Amino acid sequence: VLTIEGLWKGYRGRHVLKGIDLEVAPHEVVCLIGASGSGKSTLLRCVNLLEEVDDGTIHLEGAEITDPRVNADDVRKRLGIVFQAFNLFPHMSVLDNITLAPRQVHRVPRAQAERSARDLLERFGLGDRAGAYPDQLSGGQQQRVAIIRAVATQPKLLLLDEVTSALDPELVVEVLGVIKELKNAGMTMIMTTHEMSFCREIADTVCFLDNGVLIEKGPPAQIFTDPQEARTREFLRSVM
Ligand code: ATP
Ligand code: MG
Repeated sequence: VLTIEGLWKGYRGRHVLKGIDLEVAPHEVVCLIGASGSGKSTLLRCVNLLEEVDDGTIHLEGAEITDPRVNADDVRKRLGIVFQAFNLFPHMSVLDNITLAPRQVHRVPRAQAERSARDLLERFGLGDRAGAYPDQLSGGQQQRVAIIRAVATQPKLLLLDEVTSALDPELVVEVLGVIKELKNAGMTMIMTTHEMSFCREIADTVCFLDNGVLIEKGPPAQIFTDPQEARTREFLRSVM
């Protein structure tokens, strides 16, 4: 689905990503882990073309999206992204939040968009909240709506940046449940998380970033029990 090759990104001469290579296969769930400031969010922002890359290429479904002639809106139509802070539109109902992009960007007729949205809400345990406004929902419910909104356009790839870190521990579980369900449904995802236990449970591939360098990647069973690199061992010791 996605191929990143030799990706460099810096801010005012300071390198934040230093030659990242990463391939994401269909239905694969990739977890990015690493200390604060290691470049995880920047990498997701580059994929979503929220950042211009300095060097290297990103291909989505075989086409280069880092080519300056590419229309960023067309690329973003094929991606879903959810951030730490749930960015729901406060003045819109849950149903309108979810159907906005399908209707306005993908030109899906309202009735069809609403039917799909209600199906998704039902599936993720929010069937009775379609008419609610964001401030009438718990943080966990808001974040579930944000994830539903991101998948309502049937993205080829879902990017999740610390989607549980703004939540109270008891609300984290329900959001993780949604992500698990999406994995079971075959969604391709790249996520960043500080929840090592969840990462271990859901990731097909774990990537450890340190200071803008992808130090090590592999299946969770290997990264968490038998990391090959000293930096990975140090990081895991500090967080687990
Ligand atoms: P965290 O775990 O805290 O979310 P992260 O791994 O996501 O960290 P990034 O947000 O990608 O880290 O940041 C990587 C580095 O890039 C940091 O040193 C940060 O200060 C810097 N950085 C990020 N965005 C900008 C920006 N817009 N301008 C300047 N520097 C930035
Ligand atoms: Mg981040």
